[in-house]
Amino acid sequence: MVIMASNKLTRAGVRALLRRIVPWASETNTAKGGHNRNYKGVRGRIGIVGGARDYSGAPYFASISAMRLGADLAYVICSASASQSIKGYSPDLIVMPILDCPDDEEFETEMSCLLDRLHALVIGPGLGRESHLQTRVKKLIIKAKELSLPLVLDADSLILINEDPSIVRSYPKALLTPNRIELQRMLCSLYKSEHFDLRTMSTEDVKKLVQRCSHDMNVCILAKGSVDIVSCGDIENHLVIEETLGSSRRCGGQGDILSGLAGVYLHWIEMANGESLEKIANPTALAACLAAITTRQCNEIAYKDFGSGMLASDMISKLDTAISSLLSSDDSKHTESHVLNNPTKARYVGSLTQDEICRYSRQMIMSEFGPERQLNLKQSSAIIVGAGGLGCPSAIYLGAGGIGRLGIVDDDKVEISNLHRQVLHSVKKTGMLKTESIKEAILDINPNVKVDTFPVRMNRENAVRLIEDYDIVIDATDNLLSRYMISDACVVAKKPLISGAALKTDGQLTVYNFDNETPCFRCLFPEPPLASAVGSCSENGVLGVLPGVIGVLQAMEAIKIGAGIRPAYAGKMLLYDGQIGLFRQITLSKRKADCQACGQTSKLSRDLIDYEQFLGSKDCEKLTRDNNVLDPSERVSVEQYRDILESGEAHVLVDVRPSIQSEVSRFAHALQIPLSELMQEKAKSLNSIKGQLESNNANHIYVVCRKGIASQRGVRIIQELFAAQQPKVMVKDIAGGMTAWAQQIDTSYSCL
Ligand SMILES: [Zn+2]
Repeated sequence: MVIMASNKLTRAGVRALLRRIVPWASETNTAKGGHNRNYKGVRGRIGIVGGARDYSGAPYFASISAMRLGADLAYVICSASASQSIKGYSPDLIVMPILDCPDDEEFETEMSCLLDRLHALVIGPGLGRESHLQTRVKKLIIKAKELSLPLVLDADSLILINEDPSIVRSYPKALLTPNRIELQRMLCSLYKSEHFDLRTMSTEDVKKLVQRCSHDMNVCILAKGSVDIVSCGDIENHLVIEETLGSSRRCGGQGDILSGLAGVYLHWIEMANGESLEKIANPTALAACLAAITTRQCNEIAYKDFGSGMLASDMISKLDTAISSLLSSDDSKHTESHVLNNPTKARYVGSLTQDEICRYSRQMIMSEFGPERQLNLKQSSAIIVGAGGLGCPSAIYLGAGGIGRLGIVDDDKVEISNLHRQVLHSVKKTGMLKTESIKEAILDINPNVKVDTFPVRMNRENAVRLIEDYDIVIDATDNLLSRYMISDACVVAKKPLISGAALKTDGQLTVYNFDNETPCFRCLFPEPPLASAVGSCSENGVLGVLPGVIGVLQAMEAIKIGAGIRPAYAGKMLLYDGQIGLFRQITLSKRKADCQACGQTSKLSRDLIDYEQFLGSKDCEKLTRDNNVLDPSERVSVEQYRDILESGEAHVLVDVRPSIQSEVSRFAHALQIPLSELMQEKAKSLNSIKGQLESNNANHIYVVCRKGIASQRGVRIIQELFAAQQPKVMVKDIAGGMTAWAQQIDTSYSCL
């Protein structure tokens, strides 16, 4: 692929060379993701001079490529007008807006301070042709030569060379990187009496001209084009990088990427040169060669993914893959082997697959995230308790974003009334286990995720055991009993807990138990609220989009924790008021030393506690299943109530649903007394029921609600109201409520 007249630089040669010089590659058993911190400051501080006026793209591409390859720091020396946008592209770059500062002396002072710290200087991307900037840059080149600093001269800085080749002549650490047009200009100015038209020349002839030019100036040239040609002055030592690597499409910014990479490689080769590289060849030519090959490899991989719409940023996103594939060996001892000409089989030196690299590229290219964090995320796991309104959005974003393993706990099945908010389920999944439905949805979007399903109800017996196998716990339940239990289990198992809540149009989010400072749920709520408040969950509704908002935020926090970024809401609580559209954040107090769960004197163990006793009330979800508050003799089924209606038996029906529910649809003969009113306004309630009994000439009362939960409480309250009354009344509730009526008796009836 790469031919050197005296030394053949084969594919294996490139690999061996890279392994020698790439700082993180020489560390055996160090994954690419594990950039060794010991190298800080050694991997290179690269200066990029360019970006006059608003030419911000070129210097950005050059500098971010240098960083992506592994340089420690990139300094962009640019004009004030370009600096804002470059800084905006990436906060990782050090942007020095001094290129066009009015005072020459100030520029020189700043630059001479900087040059002392730099390992290589890349001059030219987006530089422009303004003569006074060109003069500044000329002085800079001379200064850099005095310091023996490696130099890449690209784009408009080559104009200086055309005007005065002596500034780089015989400087062994200079690399000129003209494209074909710039090469033509260079040839024309160097050999004024001759005529050149590179477009009509054969590659062989262009190659000879590059050699001649390089020889006459005694400087290394990398002539970019469909065929990259490297020559270092010595006729015997020229390199041609053939067109077989890289796609047929070069993209805008590709030259800038190459110049940034060349700067880093010049430094790395210089570092390694102290050993025995000098025996191989001209180090500047080798750096040029590696920069050209790496750029071509990026181009090839990006072209496969993005096609002809490929952008410079797409190429940069493939830099890690490109390097990994160039470094990968086809020796059998390396399991991550691959074939060069088939980059779709490439593997990270770490363990992201080609599919994962492609899939997550848009977040991996972010400097705030990057491949290391993606790999962290892949190696982490989360368990979501509750596969409903909060669980669905959390699960899908965690799965899509690349968590390695996801557990889902829920024993419910999909119902139509879930679908307005539990958006991973669907009509055709009605009756399916929610855990299975979510698993199916995740695997549809990302088959790389391992999904564990637990179609059980979390309880004190299984809570700790379920969560201790995961790194992150997400509470996506909707009741207080679960909140206490999950929080306690997280304290015992020492797991961070991302807790979300969504009620009506209000949402809450916090991360409990993240570290020794952040509180647990019981630090904030040591005592449970009154039983009457606990039992009211069936009366509350929720706007379908609200759990979506909160669930997605839970996923955001979980992804950060999994990736190794501190969550925003550890020790803070987000309060969202969807009605007025306000997000507020409050700081929570720190852990309480005397907390019954996480405090020093806590007796909490793996067995947890009896939460029903602790709350003094039955979890209303459990009530739904057990329905054991009333004796069976105090209840009638919906069939029995139908018979009562048909028989004309005198009675009073009390509908205890909140008015918002009964207003949608109700029995015309029912007396509307919401449970809350029944509890608070006893005298008034008693009077209206008594009045109705009298006018109906009845002493039978039936109580109905949505599902037969509130109605049981209603029966008890009404029994108390009438306890001292004569004559005695009979009070029963309708088991299953209006929901059962709609399902079993009158399917044309619809209720909330
Ligand atoms: Zn606590």
